[in-house]
Amino acid sequence: MAQNVLKEVFATDVFSDAVMQERLPKKVYASFMEIVENGGELDITIANVIAHAMKEWAVEHGATHYSHWFQPMTGITAEKHDSFLNASSTSEAILEFSGKELIKGEPDASSFPSGGLRATFEARGYTAWDITSPAFLREDAAGVTLCIPTAFCSYTGEALDKKTPLLRSMEAINKQATHTVHLFGYTDVKKVECSVGPEQEYFLIDREKYLKRDDLIFSGRTLFGAMPPKGQELDDHYFGTIRERIASYMKELNIELWKLGILAKTQHNEAAPAQHEMAPIYSTANIATDHNQLTMETMKRVARRHGLECLLHEKPFEGVNGSGKHDNWSLVTDTGVNLLDPGKEPHNNLMFLYMLSAVIKAVKDYAPLLRLSASNVGNDHRLGANEAPPAIISVFLGEQLEDIVDQIIENGEATSSIRGEKMNTGVTTLPNFRKDATDRNRTSPFAFTGNKFEFRMVASSMSVSGANTVLNSIVADTLENMNKNIEGLEGEEFISAVKKTIQTTLKDNKNIIFNGNGYSDEWVEEAIKRELPNVKTMVDATKYYTDPTVIAMFERQNVYTEIELKSREEINYETYSKMLHIEALTMIEMASKLYIPAIIRYCTSLAKSINEIKATGIPAATTVQNDLLIKASSLLADAQNALSQLIEKTGKAEHQNEGEESAVYYRDVIREAMTALRTPIDALEMIVDKSFWPVPTYGDILFEI
Ligand code: ADP
Ligand code: MG
Repeated sequence: MAQNVLKEVFATDVFSDAVMQERLPKKVYASFMEIVENGGELDITIANVIAHAMKEWAVEHGATHYSHWFQPMTGITAEKHDSFLNASSTSEAILEFSGKELIKGEPDASSFPSGGLRATFEARGYTAWDITSPAFLREDAAGVTLCIPTAFCSYTGEALDKKTPLLRSMEAINKQATHTVHLFGYTDVKKVECSVGPEQEYFLIDREKYLKRDDLIFSGRTLFGAMPPKGQELDDHYFGTIRERIASYMKELNIELWKLGILAKTQHNEAAPAQHEMAPIYSTANIATDHNQLTMETMKRVARRHGLECLLHEKPFEGVNGSGKHDNWSLVTDTGVNLLDPGKEPHNNLMFLYMLSAVIKAVKDYAPLLRLSASNVGNDHRLGANEAPPAIISVFLGEQLEDIVDQIIENGEATSSIRGEKMNTGVTTLPNFRKDATDRNRTSPFAFTGNKFEFRMVASSMSVSGANTVLNSIVADTLENMNKNIEGLEGEEFISAVKKTIQTTLKDNKNIIFNGNGYSDEWVEEAIKRELPNVKTMVDATKYYTDPTVIAMFERQNVYTEIELKSREEINYETYSKMLHIEALTMIEMASKLYIPAIIRYCTSLAKSINEIKATGIPAATTVQNDLLIKASSLLADAQNALSQLIEKTGKAEHQNEGEESAVYYRDVIREAMTALRTPIDALEMIVDKSFWPVPTYGDILFEI
């Protein structure tokens, strides 16, 4: 049954390779594919033919509009819809779509963040068709729309989006990695692509309850809320049986994703109550990124059909695990070789060891940049909080590779590899299989997991484009540098230069390798001794965009210009300040209009009760009410005081300078004032009669779905 559904729906909403092959003249298809694979400029006559076929196909599927679909620096996707209608005829609807309309769009770009790249009076921005990512149909209340993945640039050619730098970084890694494998003698390789598989965590909660919480609506997370008696301590949700309502959501989500050609593969419950995960099969970085954006949008849309709300925030609830995204990353040749696959005898696999050392060195040299690529406002609540990797970047290799690295550092080469042992369960009817050579380590931010690296810091709501742009660029640059040592050599000379380079690289960068428990306090201490950076917040990380070594590296690899990096730095500071401003205002609103009035009502009811009981002439019977009233009133006074402070400090924030100074103020002053308000309100939640409490509690939200 499931297989039938899969076969029936898979990629039905995609203008896929198969559809193109069927609908395009052979020659047009061939020249188009040549450009997709090897680059080059698309001729307008070819674009016209493709546009026509695309329109016919879309219209047959009910589409009335087309849209250039792009990823501005807000991190979410944007689109502008145009109908296929041509105005030349008044009596009959003539539907048209030209090659020019397919290739280029011109949305008014002035309202998208540009970080100073574009003055508002120069509103021109262009979207340009990304031919490497297939067009697809989107069906919603607006009808069916043909969506064309595009890059978004300013009039002067600067990237205003997240796709352009990613595409540039893919070209950079392709160039350097292909050259590297050629040096190793694999001259049949024409191309190296990076493969990406992003695992997506999310929360599902009841939408009616969601709508009663302004904090969830405005900031995506709860700004108040005391822990229920039960949290996640029993670990009974992780991989637990999936509840019926959730199962029916997941079923529909899968179908919607499959229709879009997204390879939704695994799903399970996660550690926190109401938390789940979906992992797709990996694909090329660019497509994986587009698909992940579509996955997040689809998750939200499908949830609403089920009376649910999907939360993608990194820390929607205090005290239970938050959500992240594991970015699985590797390099694969067009001949099908995974360059990070160690093979059966990793110690003999020189090309693998060379690639591995390059990744280790790249991560060591650019640790703060990698940290920055995973930073957003929400992730500051999660990293280093004993549920996600610490903010310190390190590399986990596992027992087998660590042993090889030790051998190489000591002797210049490795002569053996630890092998996985036979697993024996002690039950004769269960199969005995060979264990993996290495166990997993879930506490490492950057872990080798068999034939790929898993970057586990990425924020759940964030585009994976930033993380992969950085990974591709730093590894490309490191390879380019390392290759200088082995270029132009042959035979024994080449082998010994390769071995020497691997040894030196590993020796120099050994201190980034850490196989222990990344959640422990000892590691934080140890990292200080190793002089590894511990960049604690998004604000602290942001300045690395314009670190001179970072600018130079990105410029060498043609991924970002200095101006583009400055704009991203500015946008980061601005986003941080804006998000915290919204959170502060939401807290002020909720405290003054919901919590404080409710607590006053509760105190009044206690006072009334005390008076009424006193009137009976048995004053001793009021001790409980007295105690409660004293406690509640005192916390109420604390809350009121903290509220005034937050109002005052948020007011002052408006007079701060922009950029870093403002962000630092929000990080140091506003965050503290927010905690000061939350603390007494959460304490009150624990004592106030529930019938007075104005919003659904954590218990209501997390356990009653
Ligand atoms: P876990 O949840 O234990 O980390 P999963 O197997 O659920 O592991 O997810 C691993 C992810 O890694 C999947 O999305 C998978 O497609 C992806 N992946 C597997 N091999 C590669 C590879 N060579 N390159 C990139 N991603 C990969
Ligand atoms: Mg994982």
